[in-house]
Amino acid sequence: MNTLLPTSTAGSLPKPSWLAEPETLWSPWKLRDEELARGKQDALRLSLADQTHAGIDIVGDGEQTRQHFVTTFIENLEGVDFEKRETVRIRDRYDASVPTVVGDVARKRPVFVEDAAYLRQHTDRRIKWALPGPMTMIDTLYDARYGSREKLAWEFATILNQEAKELAAAGVDIIQFDEPAFNVFFDDVNDWGIATLERAMEGLECETAVHVCYGYGIKANTDWKKTLGSEWRQYERIFPKLRASRVDLVSLECHNSHVPMDLIELLRGKKVMVGSIDVASTTVETPDEVADTLRRALQFVDAENLYPSTNCGMAPLAQDVARGKLAALAAGAEIVRGELGG
Ligand SMILES: [Zn+2]
Repeated sequence: MNTLLPTSTAGSLPKPSWLAEPETLWSPWKLRDEELARGKQDALRLSLADQTHAGIDIVGDGEQTRQHFVTTFIENLEGVDFEKRETVRIRDRYDASVPTVVGDVARKRPVFVEDAAYLRQHTDRRIKWALPGPMTMIDTLYDARYGSREKLAWEFATILNQEAKELAAAGVDIIQFDEPAFNVFFDDVNDWGIATLERAMEGLECETAVHVCYGYGIKANTDWKKTLGSEWRQYERIFPKLRASRVDLVSLECHNSHVPMDLIELLRGKKVMVGSIDVASTTVETPDEVADTLRRALQFVDAENLYPSTNCGMAPLAQDVARGKLAALAAGAEIVRGELGG
């Protein structure tokens, strides 16, 4: 498949209201046991249908089978006690009560492999699967076992690599690691964050991506963004080392953010998933707005490396808003494709 400007989302999409409370993060499931298992599969197919109908080229599961992009993966690991909770500061931004690492961490069983195989069965399009990155995982836990963030990150990288290899074998074309923590802990990112990310990607034959954003459109994040000033230059601190890394695609936030577009130049040679949809706003972009973001990005990324995408996940949005944004993304990419003669 050689579509120019292939569209995709950063990952999550809203869940149906019969599966979980809409427009909420960490929303509890409304079904149980066997009914829940079937409901998640139904929701995955609906989410896939929404993406296909909108004309999205690289599709995903809309994260319909997980309650949260980090927690659900960790719930399936050994060594983490979800009853024993401590309050920590997430990404230096807000306090949250989180589970405790009490013993050696290990993967008890495949976490998303069956879901990915199910998605693979239902589409011929390229599929992308998101996993949390090692640094973002440790940032969501209290560690009472390893006594070192770096050490725990290496352990998680090994576990993620096991899961990623099985996802690739199940037919996933692109495995994406979500690392919003990369936008906060710059020294650690450069010291060991990117190294642990590469460990998670080791030996993978499919393509790999890293998603680095400014977070979902929740209040803690929008309040934080207000403190960042008129130019967001966080990416400048990590792009040089990401460019030198083995990652194939970098997914980032652009539209409606204060990220200077020319920072993308620092990734020259990489494929860049350019966020052209603002997930923190309920206003649906026009195709022209999307096209405008893509045109500006084209000054700094070669057309064959430009992947139009969303700024972040759309889980907290209303269904109709998310569907509108998917359609705008596809239509905006189509405009620019026409201009490129593709
Ligand atoms: Zn994100």
